[in-house]
Parts: sequence; C-alpha cells; structure tokens
Amino acid sequence: MNLHDFNGQPVIIGAGIAGLMTALRLAPHPVILLSEAPLGAQASSTLAQGGLAASLGEDDSTDRHLADTLAAGDGLSDPVVARRIIEAAPSAVEELARLGVRFDRAANGAPRLGLEAAHGRRRVAHAAGDGTGREIMRALVEAVRRTPSIRVLEGVSARRLIVRDDAIAGVVAAGSSGAAILATQRVVIATGGIGGLFRDTSNPMRCFGHGLVLAAYAGAMFADLEFIQFHPTALDVPARPMPLISEAVRGEGALLVNERGERFMANEPGAELAPRDVVARAVWRQLLSGNRVFLDARASLGERFATRFPAVTANCRKHGYDPVTQPVPVRPAAHYHMGGIAVDGAGRSSVVGLWACGEAACTGLHGANRLASNSLMEAVVCAGWVAHDVAGMPAVRSRTPRIRHTPPASDATRVQPILSRAAGVLRNEEELRKAVSALLPLAAFGGASSEPALIALMIATAALRRKESRGAHSRTDYPSPAATAERSFLSLDEALSEAREFDSPRTVFDMEARA
Ligand SMILES: Cc1cc2nc3c(=O)[nH]c(=O)nc-3n(C[C@H](O)[C@H](O)[C@H](O)COP(=O)(O)OP(=O)(O)OC[C@H]3O[C@@H](n4cnc5c(N)ncnc54)[C@H](O)[C@@H]3O)c2cc1C
Repeated sequence: MNLHDFNGQPVIIGAGIAGLMTALRLAPHPVILLSEAPLGAQASSTLAQGGLAASLGEDDSTDRHLADTLAAGDGLSDPVVARRIIEAAPSAVEELARLGVRFDRAANGAPRLGLEAAHGRRRVAHAAGDGTGREIMRALVEAVRRTPSIRVLEGVSARRLIVRDDAIAGVVAAGSSGAAILATQRVVIATGGIGGLFRDTSNPMRCFGHGLVLAAYAGAMFADLEFIQFHPTALDVPARPMPLISEAVRGEGALLVNERGERFMANEPGAELAPRDVVARAVWRQLLSGNRVFLDARASLGERFATRFPAVTANCRKHGYDPVTQPVPVRPAAHYHMGGIAVDGAGRSSVVGLWACGEAACTGLHGANRLASNSLMEAVVCAGWVAHDVAGMPAVRSRTPRIRHTPPASDATRVQPILSRAAGVLRNEEELRKAVSALLPLAAFGGASSEPALIALMIATAALRRKESRGAHSRTDYPSPAATAERSFLSLDEALSEAREFDSPRTVFDMEARA
C-alpha cells in the first residue's frame, strides 16, 4: 500500500463507537481509520451493556434528562453543552437504527426503555438485552466495511502526532510491518478511556489513555482529568477486564448486601439506585472494613435474570456464580473517564487540526460524574458534529515529514498499582504526592511504561490540585465540596512543572527528545 495516496486525508485514531461513527458521518469524504486491534476488539464500546440514554418515553422530556444529567454532574457539567447534546439524543438512537442496529422494541415498535441509576425515568434504549455494545458495534463495523470512502488500517496504532507551526502535520503509525508517517492536517482522536491504568477495571486493558498521551505531546489542553467514574458492581473475580454487572440489574430491583446479609444501602437516598459515586464509595467502605459485598437478585429477578441479562448471566456462570440462585461478589472498578482532551462544540481541541470524540474527549457534558448511558449517546451525537467540522477544513497535500523517532509500544502494568492506590475511589494528599513522585521518573525514563505513566501523572496532578470532594472525586482530607464549582484545565507543561515540585530535582523530563 502506498501511503502517499492518502496524503492530506483526515485520520481517525481508534475504532470504537466514536471512531466508527465519525468515519461514517464523514462519508463520502475519504478518511483513514486506524485501529490497533481488529475492528470491534479491545474497545469499551463492544462491552457496553445498558444502552443509550434518550428521552424517548411519553413521560419523559429533554428537560428531565438534562436535570438528571446536571444533578449527576454535581455542578460541573456545562449546561449549554449538555442541553445541546441531550436534545440530539433521540436522533442518535434513530440514526443507529438506520445504520442497522436492532434495538429491543415493544409490540408497538417503540424502543423498550430500561431504568438505570439516577435516571428519573425509563430512558435507556438497549439491544440484545444487555448486549447493546456488541450489537451496535456489529452494525457499525458492517456499515464501515461497506463504505468505500473509509480506508481501515487494522493492527496499526498511532504512536505520535507530528506538529509543525503549532498545527497538526502528520501521524506516526506503526504496525507489524514497521512504522510510517501519514501526512495530514486533520486528526481525530477517538481512543477511548483510561481504565487500563488501574488494576481493577471494566475497560479493555489496552484502553490506558494512549490518545491522551498523543494529544499531550502535541500540546493540547485537558479538562477535568481527575474525574474517573468507578462502577460499583464489577464481578469480583481475577479476570481482566472485570465483567460488569450492569446498573440495570439494580434498576430491576437487585440488592447490595455484605457478607452478613446486611443491606447497607437501604438508608441512603436512592438506595441501590443512588448515583454511581455514592454506591461505589459505600461498597468500597464495606471492602475496607473487611467485608465482602454481594449483589442479590434472587427475590427481584430470579429466573427472569437469565432472559433479561443473558450476557451478565453467562459471565457470572463462566466464573462459577449463578445470579439466578445465589448472590454474586462485586467490587468497584475504574469504568469511565469524565475528563479528557478539552474540546469545543465542534470537537476541536486547542491544537489546530486536532479533534477528539468519545470517551477521550471532554465536552463538558458529564461534569464530575457521568449519568449512566450518556456516553454512547454523546459519542454518536458528537461524531456528527466532528465529522461536519473536519469535512469543512480543506484537504492540503504536503511534503511527508520524516520520522525522527517511533516510540515503543506501551505497557501500563507498572503504573496500575501506583494509580490504583492513589487515585481510586477515595483519595488523599499523601498518597497522591507519593504517586506523583513514583510516576515522574517512570514517565521520564522512556521505556514501555513511560506513556501510561505520563497520563497517570497528569491525572494525579489534577487530583492533587482539586482540594474538595465532588462527584466521583472523593478526598478523605477534603470531604466537602468547595463553595464554587469550577472545571479544571491542565496542559502537559503545567502538570510537569507542578509534579517536579514534589519530586527530586534530578528527574529531568526531556520534552524535546520525545517530540
Ligand atoms: C463494560 C462497559 C460497559 C459500558 N456500558 C455502557 C452503557 O451501557 N452505556 C453507555 O453509554 N456507556 C457504557 N460504557 C461506556 C462506553 O462504552 C464508552 O464510554 C464508549 O464505548 C467509548 O467509546 P469510544 O469509541 O470513545 O472508545 P472505545 O470503544 O474504547 O474505542 C477506542 C478504540 O481505540 C483504540 N486505540 C487506542 N489507542 C489507539 C492508538 N494509539 N492507535 C489506534 N487505535 C487505538 C482502542 O484499541 C479501541 O479499540 C461502558 C463501558 C464499559 C467498559
């Protein structure tokens, strides 16, 4: 294949729901789609169970959906952005259906709607019971494969963005046959979340924020990096990613109990359907005090469990638990990153020629805590806006830049224990400072841990900066929210200069060597 043929075409990095939808919305505009794994594999999108939130029910409205989103966001969601995205949510469901997604439907043909935590109405459109992500990805992968304007490069990862005169000039990409440069002035980062930076996560382990590293080196601004949602009910087994027991199971009445059978959420407002951060902290405190925690659906669902939640049932049984007849062990797992590359309403980052979409982006919708099932919806809605903006910027052929350095493939294993200890469900200054001191030399060293360590360092720095508890960011040393809610913005330069204050002066971070 002659990469010169693609000179000037936009490049999308990552092929989950955000990358696939952006490519489809760009058609017939030619585009290159880079996917580290075969299409559909190693993407959080494929694992999604609950569905897409949209105010489709007769008892529902945009205003109600917006109110629930802002309440979950705990004062940090941008209400203007949130309204714009939520207003487009019903059309996102229609668009997916047009692309071939077979949503579960009632007898009258309307999508069946599930109830999830912190939603005041049933508003979660799902497919194949709890196999929503798998069904969406099946349909989108098929649609991409039959779209001639999309050139898919599978088994190819983006390793660096090339920036010239403060604008994107190319992508260093590497696959099994070596590295090459794609000359382009338009790049969309759609690389998903950062769960792979933690030991306990529901995300594919390769989702460790690689796209955030690419954007950081390119000089992009980040927002709300400290806000990471921990799903309260991952199945407590050694498998990674941890199988998830969807919130919809609690929506159908399943109860959380400790090993003594005590229902510890009974007196909390919302009980088992309180916001995720509240439930995650309650489960975590039980674990810290030495209890195990179980989800018990015997009375509420019983035999119905297997038909309503076939994928969860299969996962539990695979690991030796039968949710129809016994309580299953659960623990919190890093699940969703509310923060990411700061983008505007068109998905543009602060770097000319660089857009972000999906979980890698921070639009301002989620604030301090994502409302369940708002993320697939956000990815579909924003993909359309990103595609429109990318297509509006003219293709420019340019001389292909030369490769100076192809960074090695990354491995987050050494970073996981550090970030898990410091930036998990509960945080404090002492542990966060220790993490920064441990991560800075790892990030500077230049080996396989370097890039995961860099993004972990930025997260820890953002968490140190935020001296309050809000949404999913819970500091034991600052247990209350500050008087005013303010979003946080951080660049790599700022994170490094703050991190160096905590570290020995001998750790030298050579930015030039990495560019
Ligand atoms: C178990 C689970 C259940 C969930 N359930 C729901 C739900 O019911 N509803 C909801 O709204 N949200 C849900 N979420 C969240 C939602 O699935 C994700 O936020 C969303 O799918 C992210 O989509 P994405 O396209 O941004 O990223 P992903 O789907 O993760 O795709 C990113 C892709 O980029 C690739 N990639 C990364 N780096 C590179 C690189 N350098 N070069 C090339 N490729 C790269 C990755 O391999 C991956 O394939 C769930 C998440 C999980 C993990």
